[in-house]
Amino acid sequence: MNVVVIGASHAGVSFADAMRRHGFEGGLTLIDRLAGLPLERPPLSKAYLLADAGSDDAKFALRKGDWYDEAGVDLIAGADVTGIDAATQKVSLADGRDLAYDRLVLATGASPRQLPGAEGLNGVFELRHPDDAQRLRQAATSAQSAIIIGGGYIGLEVAASLVKTGKAVTVIEAADRLLARVASPVMSSFFADLHGEHGATVHVGTGVTGVTQNDGQFTGVTLADGQTITADMLVVGIGVLPEISLAEMVGAEAGNGIQVDEHMRTSVDGIYAIGDVARQGDAPRIESVHNASDTAERAAAAILGHELPALQTPWFWSEQYDARLQSAGIVPSPSENNHYVRRPGKRETGFSVWSYEGDRLCAVEAVRDPAGYMLGKTCLDRNVSPDPKQIGDPSFDVKAFIADKSVA
Ligand code: NAP
Repeated sequence: MNVVVIGASHAGVSFADAMRRHGFEGGLTLIDRLAGLPLERPPLSKAYLLADAGSDDAKFALRKGDWYDEAGVDLIAGADVTGIDAATQKVSLADGRDLAYDRLVLATGASPRQLPGAEGLNGVFELRHPDDAQRLRQAATSAQSAIIIGGGYIGLEVAASLVKTGKAVTVIEAADRLLARVASPVMSSFFADLHGEHGATVHVGTGVTGVTQNDGQFTGVTLADGQTITADMLVVGIGVLPEISLAEMVGAEAGNGIQVDEHMRTSVDGIYAIGDVARQGDAPRIESVHNASDTAERAAAAILGHELPALQTPWFWSEQYDARLQSAGIVPSPSENNHYVRRPGKRETGFSVWSYEGDRLCAVEAVRDPAGYMLGKTCLDRNVSPDPKQIGDPSFDVKAFIADKSVA
């Protein structure tokens, strides 16, 4: 059997790894538009951005260069896929090559949303790929100030990295709080305060109505309230759009992501989708490293005819300044029925936030509180919900509660 994977980032590489670990001996080809060795993405907004421009990228590699040969994985880097013929099971590359497949895996990820009016200006950056990060860190060596549009993970991690290097940083978020899509209101306030304490200026609940420039060079933005802010550079982190064009080309069902079943199969025979681009059923699409490896394992098991791995609680993490956020489950949006309970951690500055839909625990977020995170994740993994009226009390013994439920 010949398996071709389009996209060699976290999902694609994890899939190839899983196939070999589970004994697959057929042909395995990974294709990516980006040249060079596939790198880890999480450091791009943190350690990679702060590394010296000339530093060795290899330490950020997803797998060492010799892993591909040793695993018998043919990595075709720097190649654009221009067509897929599902009837003859062939993938065409821009350089004229055709590759035959028995199973095709789309791990095409997502692309940053563009800010209208900012496209093509010097001094404007997005951050998704290693070359975006290289451009950004090069520009940051001479800039004194930066505006970041979007207070999601990208915006806030880049803000913290730039503040660390002494830049004057302003974050502008359209929603009424930071991390609105992924975090509880309690965490949003914590991160707004954290950025303020480190000297960043944070505007929430305000959109950008205009981008100012001088001869093609970015100079600043105008906010909805009429305020103008100037800076040497602009970083746009306003979310991503799933890369569904190849799926559409073969007639696979797609919209906000490529639609897949629990085996990660698309609606077209022999074609699977994994990672950020895949959407399972009508659940929200999950964009994370954990989801990339989880869906990769699932697709590998499905293709090899093995039992599917059990469903896992999704988890995420972020690092900003000296704070590490660990989060498990999907935080529900504020509503009358949803509530968020803060629980003090062992360390004075550590705490966790337990999110409930009614009495059902659906997510736990923790800052400087790995023990709180682990207890919360264990509850989610075992599908048990401590009483929301008790969880905020630090003397409530969550470990004993879990043990008790396990016996019951
Ligand atoms: P994101 O999580 O979707 O956050 C983008 C934020 O920008 C949203 O709050 C969005 O608000 C806001 N926004 C949208 N348009 C805006 C505008 N015109 N002006 C101001 N704010 C605007 O996406 P991201 O931070 O760009 O991250 C991109 C991807 O990288 C995601 O998949 C993310 O999970 C991933 N990533 C993850 C990590 C991590 O897990 N630690 C780190 C870095 C990146 P609305 O939602 O209201 O549109």
